[in-house]
This record gives sequence, structure tokens and C-alpha cells, in this order.
Amino acid sequence: MSAVPKEVFTVGAAAAKFIAKPRQLLIDGKWTNAESGKTFPVINPATGEQIARVAEGDKADVDKAVKAARKAFETGPWPAMSRSDRGKLLHRIGDLMLKYADELAELESLDNGKPVAVARAADVALSADMFHYMSGWATKRHGVTLPVDCLYTPGVQYHSYTRPEPVGVVGQIIPWNFPLLMAAWKLAPALTMGCTVVLKVAEETPLSALRLGEIMQEAGLPAGVVNIITGFGETAGAALAAHPDVDKIAFTGSTEVGRLIVKAATNNLKKVSLELGGKSPNIILADADLETAIPGAASAIFFNHGQCCCAGSRLYVEQKIFDQVVEGVSEEAKKIKLGPGLDPSTQMGPLVSEIQFSRVCGFLESGFREGAKAIAGGKKREGKGFFVEPTVLVDAKPGMKVVDEEIFGPVVTAMPFRQFDDELVRQANNTIYGLAAGIWTRDVSKAHALAARLKAGTVWINCFNIFDASLPFGGYKQSGWGREMGEAVLENYTESKAVTVRI
Ligand code: ADP
Repeated sequence: MSAVPKEVFTVGAAAAKFIAKPRQLLIDGKWTNAESGKTFPVINPATGEQIARVAEGDKADVDKAVKAARKAFETGPWPAMSRSDRGKLLHRIGDLMLKYADELAELESLDNGKPVAVARAADVALSADMFHYMSGWATKRHGVTLPVDCLYTPGVQYHSYTRPEPVGVVGQIIPWNFPLLMAAWKLAPALTMGCTVVLKVAEETPLSALRLGEIMQEAGLPAGVVNIITGFGETAGAALAAHPDVDKIAFTGSTEVGRLIVKAATNNLKKVSLELGGKSPNIILADADLETAIPGAASAIFFNHGQCCCAGSRLYVEQKIFDQVVEGVSEEAKKIKLGPGLDPSTQMGPLVSEIQFSRVCGFLESGFREGAKAIAGGKKREGKGFFVEPTVLVDAKPGMKVVDEEIFGPVVTAMPFRQFDDELVRQANNTIYGLAAGIWTRDVSKAHALAARLKAGTVWINCFNIFDASLPFGGYKQSGWGREMGEAVLENYTESKAVTVRI
């Protein structure tokens, strides 16, 4: 692994112009300062230095934003707009995201730390695609007619049908690992259903969603339909989750904060959907094609620096190929070039923040204290920025923090299993989470049998981290409630009304 380069990598003119000016909140179609007048810095995780300042929204701003969203929902042009026009508008947002793709990717890379090429090919492309995909549903979401024979009114005929209606004013709280993509996953389906939104972005990574706010205005989204608050979780986020005039809260983030969201939502019993943590098992059987399984297992954990809720962080390898796989994944880890996201040669950037960096380093220390051994990596990088080496740990067992808890960093624990049996299934499911799982085998029967028994919302076979706007994504157990993406996500933003007419 080479040293972190000393050169300074800069963004293009458009992104530079965007960050040069303090960024404001988007409320009721206007860019505005926080009521308190406060701002906070946005930090480049590759250097630890300030790159921009944004408004620090809190409860007062959330109140204003909810009021604007309520007005837009009840009396604005949005609910009256035809489904076809709403779909076209959403499609236009996707088109504009692609038009500004380079700028968005640069902002994302600078703010989050991920390699700019990854931001362009994955984050921006998938975000635009989410709007394109969802735009089609605007005209296709429909109710059903139902045969009704009311038992206590014999002989009377009825015609009954359902109407899928927007749930209303939606609060959305998103994390920092895929800032633009999480905004797209949340906004596109809510808008498709005709909801209005207050979006609270992560304090670590506000830039790309703010630029998306401008893009939505350029596309012609009416005022108040999407309001964007930058601010902290304990203030702005908590105020949104607890707000009595918010009909639904959609959250992506840690399981710990997910619990707080649920508690805060109880005051008005707003609907809640949650996409939370994970500790995904990635299982390699002895008959797997190791030429794909080994790089696949490395990318399952190291993609986005392990800062993925679905990261393949528990690698289970059949005993007879264990040494070969551990060696292979470790070789892959050692080849990864660390550096600033804006350096085109970087393969892995820094972790998003100093807090996340300390958290991951703390996990490594606890792993070593409890007896785990690093075959690759295991250290932070000295000097500027929040860099942690891609790490492969062995001699790790359930009961250790590194095996049981979500690290959210580039750290995988590799553990051997004897054979494909009930005990393997038990080990793989031995977690409070249930977001995703990977299986690598040439045996089709084993693959499907295992897929059916894993308690996870997503199972990848001979691949990992494959996402598409059409595929529902979400968790069993403490990984969440409800699904993101696909037709399934529309449920999160729908009230279904049953209408019955006496004939
Ligand atoms: P992480 O621990 O990985 O930073 P979090 O779950 O803390 O992830 O953060 C995800 C999102 O939740 C962020 O937008 C953050 O501001 C927000 N958040 C944090 N704490 C709260 C809270 N108490 N109430 C509402 N939102 C919160």
C-alpha cells in the first residue's frame, strides 16, 4: 500500500463555486439562514480541514419546514398535479442529475471521502436512476376492486375498491455513507406518491443533497414540496421525529438512533419505516469459484470503506479452503490504494469523520485485546485525514465485539465452518441484524436452500452489493421496518383507503 499522496486535489469550477458560499436551508422554495443564524463547518475527511459552511437548522427551522410542507400538501399545486405531470417532473430531476453528474460526484467525494469515480458510477448514477425508475410508478400505482358480501345485510350489493393515497407530510432522516443516494431513495418514492417532505441530511455530508435541492427547483418542483434541513441529529433530527404535524418518518441510520426515532414517533403515532444496521454473513462454500469469490468477498466488505449497512463483514469460509481464501482476501486488501477521494488513482478514501475513525480504531483495539489477529491491515494511517487500512481479522469468535457489532469500517472477520449444515445456518443467523447475506457456491441446490434459510432481506448468490431501483431492500430483525426501493417502498408513503358503495 502506498502512502497517502501529498498533492492537493481540487474540484471543478461548478463544485468549487457551490462550496465557496455558505449554504442555507431550503424552506418553502427559498434558501434561508437558520433562525438562530448559526452555521457549522463541513469537513474534508481526507485532510480534516473545513471545505464549506452550512446553516445549522434546529427545532425552529424544522417547525417552519413542516408548516411549508403541510401547506404544499393541503393547498399547493402538488396534490392537484396530474400523475402524468408528476411522473414527468420526477423524470426531469433524474435527467438533471445526470447533466450535473460530474459536479455531484465531486461534491460527494469531497464531502464523504469516497473515490470520485465510484461516486460518479455508483452514487450519482443510481440516484438519478431512482428518480427515473420511480417516475414510472407515478402513473401505475392503483387500487383494487374487492368482492364484498356483507354477512349481516344479506341481499344487498356493494361495490368496494381501494384508493392508494399519499400518507401526507413526511419527515426523512438520512445518513452520511451514501448522502445523495439515500436522499434519492427517500425522496423519489415519497414524491411519486404525492407526499411532501422535510429532509434532514446527515451533519457530516450535507453538500450533495443541497445541490439536489437546487436541481429539483430547476426541474420545476413547486415550493414547499421538498424542504431540506442541515443540522444535527439531537436537535433538528429529534425535532422532526417528534413533530406532531408529521404523518410519517422514514429513517436510515444506526439501530441505536432507530430506537430513538420510534420512541419520538409515539407522541402522534406517526408511521415509521427504518433501514438500520447490519452484520451480514458472507458464506463461501468449498465448491465456489474462488476466482470470483475471493475478490467478491473483498469488495463485499471494502466497498465504500466498509461504510455500508449491508457490508459482508462476517466472512464464513468452509474449513478446507479457509487458508486459501483468507490469504486471497488479504492480498486483495493489501493491494487497495488509500488516498483522497479526488485523486483519480485512489481505490479507498478516508472514513467519513474523526468520530467514525475513532469508532473503527476502537473496534480494532478491542478485537486485538480479545484475541483476534490481523492478516492484512489492522492499523490507522498516521498523518492527516481519517484513513484506516483495509483489515482482515482471524481468530475471532462470537461474543467478541468485532464479530457481534456493526463496525461500519473496512474490517472483516474471517471464520471457518466445518460444512454446509444446520450449524452453518445457525452461525450465519446468529446476529441481531438481518439486512443482507452472501453465498458463494457452484451448487445451485445448496445456494437456493441456504438462501431460503438465511434471515436477511437481501441474499446475493455469487455476487454482492448488487443494487437496482427495482429490487426491494430492507431488514429482518433489528435491521429495520419496511423496504426501500422497488414497488415495495411505495407502501411506506401510502395510506390505503377502502371505499364501499351500496348499489
Ligand atoms: P451514525 O452513527 O452512523 O452517524 P446515526 O444513526 O447517528 O448514524 O445518524 C443517521 C442520521 O440520524 C443523521 O442524519 C443524524 O443526524 C440523525 N440522528 C442522530 N441522532 C438523532 C436523533 N436523536 N433523532 C433524530 N435523528 C438523529
